[in-house]
Amino acid sequence: MRSTANFSEQEWNCKCGACKMQVPHDMLPVTMRSTQMIRNYLNTPLSLTSAFRCKQHPNEVKKSKGGQHTLGTAVDIKVTNGADAAKIIAYAIKSLDVQGWAYSKRLGFVHLDWRDTGLMTWEY
Ligand SMILES: [Zn+2]
Repeated sequence: MRSTANFSEQEWNCKCGACKMQVPHDMLPVTMRSTQMIRNYLNTPLSLTSAFRCKQHPNEVKKSKGGQHTLGTAVDIKVTNGADAAKIIAYAIKSLDVQGWAYSKRLGFVHLDWRDTGLMTWEY
C-alpha cells in the first residue's frame, strides 16, 4: 500500500534531511487505512506533519530503539484547534483502536499510533 484516497505517497514518506525523502515508506496498512478513515470522518483536508521516519531521522537517532514512526505505526496530523484535536482522538480511540495518542497545542499536531502495548499518552 503506497497511498490512500487523500494522502499521496510523498505524504507517507520520511521528511527528514538525512534521507532527503528518498527512503520508500514502510507504513502499516492499518495505519494508512485508519488515517484515511479519520479524513473521511472529518470530511476536511488534513495534512500529515510526520508519518514514516527513516532510522536517520533526527527525532529517532537519539532514542535507544526506533519509535512508532520508524515501525510505520504512527502518524502526526496537523491541527489548528483543540476541538479538532479532541474529535480526532475520541474517534481514533473509540472506532479505530488507537493505542498511543498525544496532542501538542504548541506544536499544532495530534500524534496517533497503533502500538501493541496498550493505551498510552504523554506530553510534548
Ligand atoms: Zn529520513
